[in-house]
Amino acid sequence: MFQRLTLIGAGLIGSSIARVARERRDLAAEVVVTDRSAAVLDRVAALGFADRIEPDTARAAVGADCVMLCAPVGTYAAIAAAVAPHLAPCAIVTDVGSTKVSVIRDVGPLLPPDVHFVPAHPLAGTEYSGPDAGFSTLFEGRWCLLTPPDGTSPAATERVAEFWRRAGSMVELMEAVHHDRVVAVVSHLPHLIAFTICSTADDLATEGESAAASRSEVLKFAASGFRDFTRIASSDPVMWRDVFLNNREALLEMLARFTEDTQAMARAVRWGDAAYIEDRIGRGRQIRRGLIEAKQA
Ligand code: NAP
Repeated sequence: MFQRLTLIGAGLIGSSIARVARERRDLAAEVVVTDRSAAVLDRVAALGFADRIEPDTARAAVGADCVMLCAPVGTYAAIAAAVAPHLAPCAIVTDVGSTKVSVIRDVGPLLPPDVHFVPAHPLAGTEYSGPDAGFSTLFEGRWCLLTPPDGTSPAATERVAEFWRRAGSMVELMEAVHHDRVVAVVSHLPHLIAFTICSTADDLATEGESAAASRSEVLKFAASGFRDFTRIASSDPVMWRDVFLNNREALLEMLARFTEDTQAMARAVRWGDAAYIEDRIGRGRQIRRGLIEAKQA
């Protein structure tokens, strides 16, 4: 699909893309990997999933027909500014960032007019980060959402879509504002809740004499509910900090709605409204069944 694919950021997502591209040679003839961290690039060399390692971001973009931003979204403006003067005419710039309005705002205006910009977001990930965490099947059977701004070349969009299909994903086009609202519900809010529950439990365990449970009790008796939240809450702090700060409006809107619903649940518990409580729990079950049927569980 591409002669030279340059990946900027070699963490979970970037290294997974490099691995699948190395496995399926019809994605890219050459995979160039860059990262701001020398330690990460040492691991990339040891793991052997790059054809070429280039520590300098700008030099990594030279001669690439596809440059893919795979770093935390808060770094995108600086990366775009660094690579813009070095991009080949007609190159495609794309990304994997979890927010799309901010990426279009931060990257789009910095790119030369003869470069195609096709924002993308693979809905695939794990709680692990870094180059050792990646694996070539990460995107198999997962959605990848493309949010090309008005005026984007349909041919460039189709090339990026085909790249993701060949990596194993199902592709859908979506408007960026809508994307940010959807992922606020299905991904960003659940992460915010998981981070909050874990820090609340930690606070409750460290309040001295009045502690609800000691820290060792929290760890010892963590039943599946809390344990499942800790898995999500172990995700990378920098990546998620950037996601929250760059999807502020949609996330706050969904959080306000969620807060209202938790208040309604609290009221049902206080007043013994068994039917309300049962209805809400039942809906969770239905959603889980739907996910299993759609093979997304
Ligand atoms: P990650 O494992 O933490 O990897 C990010 C890598 O980017 C790190 O090696 C980091 O180096 C490097 N980096 C940071 N700033 C950089 C810069 N200015 N130039 C070059 N490299 C830089 O994160 P990830 O999970 O792969 O996430 C990468 C992107 O994918 C994010 O935009 C995220 O929103 C998106 N995404 C993540 C998931 C997920 O579940 N994890 C899913 C879909 C999309 P240091 O370690 O030195 O900081």
